[in-house]
Amino acid sequence: MFRSLLIANRGEIACRVAETAKLLGIRTIAVYSDADRTAKHVAACDEAVRIGPAPARESYLKIEAILAAAKASGAEAIHPGYGFLSENADFAEACAKAGIVFVGPPADAIRAMGLKDAAKAIAEKAGVPIVPGYHGHLQDAEFLAGEAARIGFPVLIKAVAGGGGKGMRRVDKAGDFAAALAGAQREAEAAFGNPAVLVEKYVAAPRHIEIQIFGDTHGNVVHLFERDCSLQRRHQKVIEEAPAPGMSEGLRAAMGEAAVTVAKAVGYVGAGTVEFIVDGSEGLEDAAFYFMEMNTRLQVEHRVTEEITYTDLVAWQLCVAAGERLPMAHGVFDRRPIAAPAQSMMSPSGHAIEVRLCAEDTENGFLPSTGRFDRLLIPSTGRLREDFGALEGHTITPYYDPLFGKVIAHGDTREVALQQLRTWLSRFEAIGVKTNAAFLLRCLEHPAFIAGKFDTHFIERHLDALIAPDDAAARTAEALAVLAVLIDRRKESGGDPWDLRDGFRIGGVPGAEDVAFVGLGAQARPIENGFAVTLRSGSSLAAPHPEVPGPRLSRAAAQPPQDEGRASKDAGEERRVAILGGRLAGGTITAEIDGRKVTGGAIVGPEDVRVAVGPRSFRFALAASHVLDEAGVGGGRAITAPMPGRVVQILVKPGDAVTRGQPLGVLEAMKMEHTLRAPGDAVVASVAAQAGDQVGEGAVLIAFEEE
Ligand code: ADP
Ligand code: ADP
Ligand code: MG
Repeated sequence: MFRSLLIANRGEIACRVAETAKLLGIRTIAVYSDADRTAKHVAACDEAVRIGPAPARESYLKIEAILAAAKASGAEAIHPGYGFLSENADFAEACAKAGIVFVGPPADAIRAMGLKDAAKAIAEKAGVPIVPGYHGHLQDAEFLAGEAARIGFPVLIKAVAGGGGKGMRRVDKAGDFAAALAGAQREAEAAFGNPAVLVEKYVAAPRHIEIQIFGDTHGNVVHLFERDCSLQRRHQKVIEEAPAPGMSEGLRAAMGEAAVTVAKAVGYVGAGTVEFIVDGSEGLEDAAFYFMEMNTRLQVEHRVTEEITYTDLVAWQLCVAAGERLPMAHGVFDRRPIAAPAQSMMSPSGHAIEVRLCAEDTENGFLPSTGRFDRLLIPSTGRLREDFGALEGHTITPYYDPLFGKVIAHGDTREVALQQLRTWLSRFEAIGVKTNAAFLLRCLEHPAFIAGKFDTHFIERHLDALIAPDDAAARTAEALAVLAVLIDRRKESGGDPWDLRDGFRIGGVPGAEDVAFVGLGAQARPIENGFAVTLRSGSSLAAPHPEVPGPRLSRAAAQPPQDEGRASKDAGEERRVAILGGRLAGGTITAEIDGRKVTGGAIVGPEDVRVAVGPRSFRFALAASHVLDEAGVGGGRAITAPMPGRVVQILVKPGDAVTRGQPLGVLEAMKMEHTLRAPGDAVVASVAAQAGDQVGEGAVLIAFEEE
């Protein structure tokens, strides 16, 4: 076994690889870009080497910089994680040339599976079914449109060099084909430097079911059963589980065998995943399955397989890379060599489910969210696996992808695993970065998902319900926000932090106090051990109040607030709550509200109060600062870049009349393209950016004429 390992990655996967390396006593070396100097993965390793500036191209994707770091630190092997250089055959070769072991398959196998069209040809030749389509080299738009018509709509256009759901477009009718093709080619060229695409039949009621395979250098290849990754958004996995709900023994055996056949066809060594698309329209019993692609690396969702097979796949990778025989069903501490590893020795046990936590604004088109985790409460139950790449106080930058953590539950049954995850998610809190946690919880609560009745359209089909606001949480948040302000005022006036268990009086004189947020006013009247609070939604109480901290000039109120407005959608509504026994310490706020104990997160700032109620976060702008903004600070009518990125396209010119929702341009950031849409009907006054421009957050891209 190696004595030292450089981990050429970041975030949760770098931390996860380091965890196993440490169990094996291996010295770990992290690499980091300037954006990651204080990142979790840097602290998780024994040593760390800077490899360059923030952009991945200049750091995590820079082969020379990584090899130099490996040499400088004396690393014997390099684990590439997933993404970045993990499927880069040139990197695997460069490692070998430098005398360093690449923990992954041979370069030839990576190359063979690197392009989707070539991979399909290999599968087909090996007798494994592939989706009907055109996988040839001709790229002429008219020819491809003809092929699409021949295949029959709906079809899927895929970048042959694609990955991460990029360069992919579903086309439902002939009229949409040309535009979709152009979009896919543009995205493919930008992301992979290769615009080539293939066109294939879009499978009905698609289930994404993949097989984990493992090979060693002694010619053994086994599979470790399936994972169902059908819960996807824009062709990207969101929730994964094993076994696949409804899986039959027969289909599992057939798919497992097909996966091993494909792996053997390319002399595969190490961890790999063979992805299949399964037609689930008639259930899985005798379903047709088709080879989609092979990922020649460790997968994000590998933990799900580890849970049901009691294995450590990173330990397996390291053993295989060190030349050992497949350790089969043995864990990290039990790697007795087995003369002839046999598939029959493997058996799945229980049910595992993983959710991917991403920094994204689910209510705003899943736009990636950047910022600092001013609060990040990662519940620790001791029963689930929590793989995180960030901690409280860490910043999500726009440079890398939005996945910051994943949580994996394993139970005897699917029901138990689901229950564990739901409870975990309902306790998770984040403030400062928007996350998809509440959305994930909604997915796990959905009756169709619970019943195991879903395909890859599940999220799209139920989107409205999955992103709908939660009124009960909003009401709790309102009360907690008012309470947080009251507590904060007492701290400011030099008093002890308010602790109502000890009783409470305002300077001995009972009197009413007002708290005014934008769209929400509250009057708090002291009662024994607390307050009787009257909350009033709507504008009438939202006037600036002298007791409100500030006023200060702020950008905050001009930015779209997290859930503001939603929290008080019924204008003019009035309600009363009794808040007893309150405490705010270390960002945690507790109180008894209407006879119910409530705990959340709260951060009181000069311009706002941010509250987390479980996985939902809310922002309440203090009224005084907002009024200044309305008076002209930052209130111009313009489209600004929601995050730093590259302008891909501008679709309008000065003088154009646009309607609400109309696409105005495309910005690429955090590996995704984002369509910028008109916030209302307007006339374009000027365009301040053009295709190719790098723009900073808040940069004005398009300005509109005043009404
Ligand atoms: P998995 O199948 O392991 O879930 P994903 O498709 O979600 O893989 O990709 C894993 C990670 O690697 C994601 O962060 C994704 O953005 C990134 N990724 C995948 N393919 C590529 C690629 N070709 N180039 C760059 N990043 C990629
Ligand atoms: P990537 O490299 O981006 O992972 P894949 O070829 O694995 O690309 O496809 C990504 C996803 O797109 C799949 O998980 C599946 O949900 C969907 N998909 C791919 N091919 C088809 C198809 N022929 N019919 C229906 N859905 C498909
Ligand atoms: Mg895939």
